[in-house]
Amino acid sequence: MSGRKRKESASVRENVLDVAVIGGGFAGIGAAIRLKQRGIDDFAIFERGTAIGGTWRDNTYPGAACDIPSRLYSYSFAPNPDWSHTYSGSNEILGYIESMAAEFGLHPHFRFGSDVTGIAFDEAAGIWDITIEGRAGTVRARTVVLASGPLANASLPPIRGIDTYTGHKIHSARWDHDYDFTGKRVAVVGTGASAVQIIPELVDRAASVKVFQRTPGWVLPRVNRRTNPLTKQLYRRVPAAESLARRAWFYEHESVALGVVWNTPLTRVVEMVGKAQLHRQVKDPWLRRQLTPDFRAGCKRLLMTDDYYPALQRDNCKLITWPIARISEDGIRTAEGVEHRADCIVFATGFDVSKTGTPIPIAGRDGRVLAEEWARGAYAYKSVAVSGYPNLFFTFGPNSGPGHNSALVYMEAQIDYLVRAIETILDRDLRMLDVRRDRQDRYNAAIQRKLTATTWNSGCRSWYLTEDGFNATMYPGFATQYVGQLRALDLDDYHVVPSGASTTRPRIAAVS
Ligand code: NAP
Repeated sequence: MSGRKRKESASVRENVLDVAVIGGGFAGIGAAIRLKQRGIDDFAIFERGTAIGGTWRDNTYPGAACDIPSRLYSYSFAPNPDWSHTYSGSNEILGYIESMAAEFGLHPHFRFGSDVTGIAFDEAAGIWDITIEGRAGTVRARTVVLASGPLANASLPPIRGIDTYTGHKIHSARWDHDYDFTGKRVAVVGTGASAVQIIPELVDRAASVKVFQRTPGWVLPRVNRRTNPLTKQLYRRVPAAESLARRAWFYEHESVALGVVWNTPLTRVVEMVGKAQLHRQVKDPWLRRQLTPDFRAGCKRLLMTDDYYPALQRDNCKLITWPIARISEDGIRTAEGVEHRADCIVFATGFDVSKTGTPIPIAGRDGRVLAEEWARGAYAYKSVAVSGYPNLFFTFGPNSGPGHNSALVYMEAQIDYLVRAIETILDRDLRMLDVRRDRQDRYNAAIQRKLTATTWNSGCRSWYLTEDGFNATMYPGFATQYVGQLRALDLDDYHVVPSGASTTRPRIAAVS
């Protein structure tokens, strides 16, 4: 293992971690496992919460599930033959994450309640200083993995009057399990991926449910099957069979890219499938019209569900398409002046996603501040590293979002790449591994050029885009291409500065 070969000077720096992982969700845990497997054990996982699991710890709303098949929405290095269904619920996914943490001995590495409020690079030492809320001094680490996740900050929308509402407010990602919906009048704001999972559950419990829709999305069927016990047994006994099943799902999703990522004749086919589901499940032509999207399929996230349209047509459910004018003390007032009284408003309105700025303040070389550089939109080299911020690696960084395949496939590729980079820094006792600006610029110019042909940039509003329409979120290609570009760490892409050496290149000017 590389850890054994590491130079003395690297391992004797006192009170300096080899790696600080920020975030204890899927990405942080995946990175930790891969570090351990490469013999890198001197790391800590800083988690602001009190438990592991990130998204899947936080999103516990009724009906929470993943719309990517579990066999693919998991790590290839930690296969689970026991998934109960094609698409698993949030509890089962959280159980998978917890069992990985236990199996790979990650618990001693966790520092719960550690809210990282900023990191700054000490260029002379080649060390990151990590500030943690309520803790004196800083934690020091040679390398940092930022795995805080793009969808970690639940946000209530800035709707006028929201603070005056006297009823109960619940955000989809901070579910209040003590609230009893029985007999209640409930308003749901939002009709995105979270809302379409929540609404079918709420109509079963509440007296009435009013769904406030701003934009109807493309809804496609999601056929969920219970896994046959014999299949589980086969996967347990013959891991290759499970891996084959994963591969089959992977290529099935890759083929969908042709209609979802790019605006092609196949996009029409995807839209036909959506329209067929709408016609099959919604007989009322007026309601159907209200539910018909006016943008290309794929531009916003596809909604994979079989029970959303039926739920909307239940006697106790009503779709409201008038824009929300304001929230009042008693409920929601829509633009035509109707007051919709509600005992509880469920906000399935998404997250505060930092497509500009950074999730935490990050200070790099020469006093540069990443939030300033990303003020008009984020960018990175292969989504993982940013020039001027050495020894820092992102998971789910800029332009790494998939529209058609499992985020975990992308994450695994990022993790393997960044672990290779960290190993290089430690084994060669580098002070800095800093990606070259010219490589980064060339990479991003190509990404932005390719994005112009994608459905995401075809004219709808989504969390993928900044206010200016800049796409700093999605990767414009197949997962195979994304994974391929991260397969090898090419040191020619980087300024490589050994410990003890002075900087080998002219000081960089802060970028405007
Ligand atoms: P979202 O996709 O951002 O949807 C938010 C919804 O709230 C949209 O319908 C939006 O309308 C509406 N909205 C936001 N602000 C509003 C306002 N001020 N007034 C009225 N309506 C407003 O959020 P999400 O559903 O929580 O999903 C976020 C992401 O989480 C997804 O894209 C996906 O990546 C992930 N997710 C994944 C799964 C899964 O199964 N894998 C499940 C849930 C979530 P507009 O469309 O008009 O903006």
